[in-house]
Amino acid sequence: MLNFSFHAPTRIHFGRDQVRQLTSEIPAGSRVLLTSGGSSIRVNGVLEAVLAQLAHCTVIEFAGIEPNPEFETLRRAVELGRREQADWVLAVGGGSVIDGSKWIAAALDLDPAIDPWLLVGNKTRVRSARPLGVVLTLPATGAESNHVGVISRRETQDKQSFRSEHVFPRFAVLDPCFTFSLPPRQVGNGVVDAFVHTLEQYLTYPVDARVQDRMAEGILQTLIEVGPQTLAEPGNYDARANYMWAANQALFGLVGAGQPQDWASHAIGHELTALYGLDHARSLSVIVPALLQYCRADKAGKLLQYGQRVWGLAGSDAGIIDAAIAATRDFFVRMGLPVTLAEAGIDAAEAALRVEANLPRHKPQPVGEHGKLTPADCAAIVRMSV
Ligand code: NAP
Ligand code: FE
Repeated sequence: MLNFSFHAPTRIHFGRDQVRQLTSEIPAGSRVLLTSGGSSIRVNGVLEAVLAQLAHCTVIEFAGIEPNPEFETLRRAVELGRREQADWVLAVGGGSVIDGSKWIAAALDLDPAIDPWLLVGNKTRVRSARPLGVVLTLPATGAESNHVGVISRRETQDKQSFRSEHVFPRFAVLDPCFTFSLPPRQVGNGVVDAFVHTLEQYLTYPVDARVQDRMAEGILQTLIEVGPQTLAEPGNYDARANYMWAANQALFGLVGAGQPQDWASHAIGHELTALYGLDHARSLSVIVPALLQYCRADKAGKLLQYGQRVWGLAGSDAGIIDAAIAATRDFFVRMGLPVTLAEAGIDAAEAALRVEANLPRHKPQPVGEHGKLTPADCAAIVRMSV
């Protein structure tokens, strides 16, 4: 096992009616910038449930944070927060609202003389941030209790992450009932994103991290069970509760502790989203099967373990690895996601050239758990996803 330090300060309130915890989590008299996305929380009653718990605070609403949160939108939220002297940020939504709110919380505390875009990619240091709370409505990213945010800037085709201890949410409310209104497309996306987060940390080279491996295998098997069940039985609370907790645990930090981590699929996927507007999870479902094929020699030990333990496969090593990659692809298909760029309406040859050109602007090169996937390798992976 590799050395690691682990810190997870977010208090999680999980289950029905846990939104009531807002009353004690946010101090009386706070000026709360309540951030949200489009109209979903207005239609499904989540906003009403949240506001009912905030009578002890002054609430300043900022709606309109779009999927793949946009820098210019977030900047407007910061202007509002400054003008209204917000001292708390409460994100109500999915990964985009939460990531955007992490950036808002940090930008509110940034010296106004510094260009706030520099926070993205950690080109300037996050020295502090306003306290942030979360009410999660879409299980997928783990953003509700990690310290990473991913921000987009369409004008320059940028989609890039930043991280800071200061943007860990103070608390997160995870009520599975708040996810009943999710359309099947978002359930599919959420399950696949969480599945890929687990693979990025587990399907690397073996370092004898048995607890982490078995946690990863448990999360993957749970997602394989509850993903299709949530699609088939949209009103099933227990399926949703297990999906919500699995997605949280996938990127809580425990699976990756002491393990090498890959994240090349995410690096390539972020470029595809920035270039073509592809949903985040769909950028992963087209890249992961190709990447596993391309990297199968380096990942052989873990691919074998994955095939045997997660998919219950037997036979020759090469046969198990082939079948494990095929089973992964089939699972993405069952969840309703594309597994080729053509299905997503994208020309792979053109995408490969554009990814190769853009990737070095956003990520230190090369990428992958062995640090040896160059932009040309990433382009080759994109070309394979046909
Ligand atoms: P999202 O972009 O936050 O939301 C997608 C869509 O789902 C939105 O249109 C939203 O509608 C809708 N939605 C959310 N909750 C709903 C509900 N309960 N009922 C009905 N509709 C609902 O999706 P996401 O997959 O959670 O987040 C994706 C972003 O997170 C990407 O930018 C990705 O790069 C990033 N990400 C971050 C991390 C991390 O560690 N921080 C990890 C992976 C990915 P409304 O706008 O109307 O609410
Ligand atoms: Fe992701």
